[in-house]
Amino acid sequence: MNKRFLDRVLPDPSPPALKAGRRDLRRRNTWLLLHLLQTEGPSSQAELARRSALSPATVSGILQPLVEAQILVEEGKATSGLGRRASILAFNRRTALTVGISIDQEECEVGLVDLSARVIDHASASYPRYTEPHEVVELAACGVSALIERNGLDRGALVGAGVAVPGLIDSKSGLVCVAANLGWRQVQLRALVEQRLGLPVRVEHLGRAKARAEATWGKGKGHRNFVCLELGSGIGAGVMADGRILRGAGAIAGEVGHTPIDSASPRCACGLNGCWEVFCASPAIRRRLAELLDSGAGAGTVLTPDSSLADIGRAYEQGDPVARGVIQATAAHLARGLVGVIWNFDPEIIILTGPVIRDCPGLLEATGPILSGLEAARRFDVPLVAASQGSDAGVVAASSIVSLHHIQELAGAERRAHQPQLAVTG
Ligand SMILES: [Zn+2]
Repeated sequence: MNKRFLDRVLPDPSPPALKAGRRDLRRRNTWLLLHLLQTEGPSSQAELARRSALSPATVSGILQPLVEAQILVEEGKATSGLGRRASILAFNRRTALTVGISIDQEECEVGLVDLSARVIDHASASYPRYTEPHEVVELAACGVSALIERNGLDRGALVGAGVAVPGLIDSKSGLVCVAANLGWRQVQLRALVEQRLGLPVRVEHLGRAKARAEATWGKGKGHRNFVCLELGSGIGAGVMADGRILRGAGAIAGEVGHTPIDSASPRCACGLNGCWEVFCASPAIRRRLAELLDSGAGAGTVLTPDSSLADIGRAYEQGDPVARGVIQATAAHLARGLVGVIWNFDPEIIILTGPVIRDCPGLLEATGPILSGLEAARRFDVPLVAASQGSDAGVVAASSIVSLHHIQELAGAERRAHQPQLAVTG
């Protein structure tokens, strides 16, 4: 077993316990190979043997039963190399798909995602602010049904649904304790979604789910310390600290948007005045646009007080003066808050994601130079980058809540199916 490799790979959820004896070797090796297929995508057995440092015979002995059980399928042949071309193995989309549901204040995204984070299809629905939880769940469930139908899939292939939501989340019970920006309190979200979809469901804080997905497939890969900052109707972060996702005593670690900046500024949904997110989240950007237009600075602009974030983003790219004013002012506040993030978490990299960055990518471009001119950021030179999944980031993150655990379940089930042959070399 290549222990150094295991130390580097995704730390959360953890691989099967290291204390396990030979009885669990097969389970551990199975998890390792499935994890490689999950994180690196479809691979040949030779490639898996090389990456895992397991013998080709061990790899074949583990993978062949998984092919026979239709958990894995051949997906083409390797394109390079001499001699017989090797089969490329991948997770079978016909037998295992996950549902990702990402919820924000005024929109939810749903997607069907395979166990290697490849999005089969996705859709989104918008709704007014403070829509009731059961109505949002109904919209999401209708979206899932439409995607299944549109892609000619069998509902039986769905192994579970992950729901990512901002706020104070008890991920063990699936309870949304408080989601101030959604207006939700004490919502049994897992139970609601399970009841409606008829699937096992896991619920996680949106920022933490995004951070885990970035650690597994994106810009966080290879970093033991990074912050994934979600900019939507609020600001929340998933913090990877020393290789673990930070949760805190009450699972509120990373709610950096509620850092008080200026007590004389407007009230935040949390009850305090002048939190960081009051200056940078989507309502702040819309408010800033309205203020600029009100002040008579609207000459030559295509924007109106009803313009969407995407309108502002497009106008910024075209050099619209009002859009530039809105984005530059937002970037200045964002950069100052990011200095606090750097001092608090000492990240190797900061990843920006969420609807604001999706719709206004120019905000990232405008923030970088301002941040690098500020103390701390200048001293520590922390790169600021966009998340890797683009518009699919929400559904990939949500589905990963389920798919990362599903691999462990597959490895455990595989072990049980092979009890008599536990003496596997490793
Ligand atoms: Zn607040």
